[in-house]
Amino acid sequence: MIDSLFTLYCEDCEIAGRPSRLWVRAEIEASTSRGPETHHYLECMNCGFRFKSCMEDHMEAVDEDEWRRCVDEALPVIPRPEPLG
Ligand SMILES: [Zn+2]
Repeated sequence: MIDSLFTLYCEDCEIAGRPSRLWVRAEIEASTSRGPETHHYLECMNCGFRFKSCMEDHMEAVDEDEWRRCVDEALPVIPRPEPLG
């Protein structure tokens, strides 16, 4: 599954001749007309470009709103140590 992500690249960086480094920020299960799909939300560590991949070779820019909704909430919750006493 993850292998298909390695075929993706950041277009901005590709054009500029930089190696793009994509970071998978979240995996969201979505039900579509074709059945369940996993949407990967990716961020380019070079230029900060954010997008999602819905199909193996297709990516869409993600706006701030959607990013916050889908990615921020998907972050693992870091357990805080309980204060003693
Ligand atoms: Zn980039």
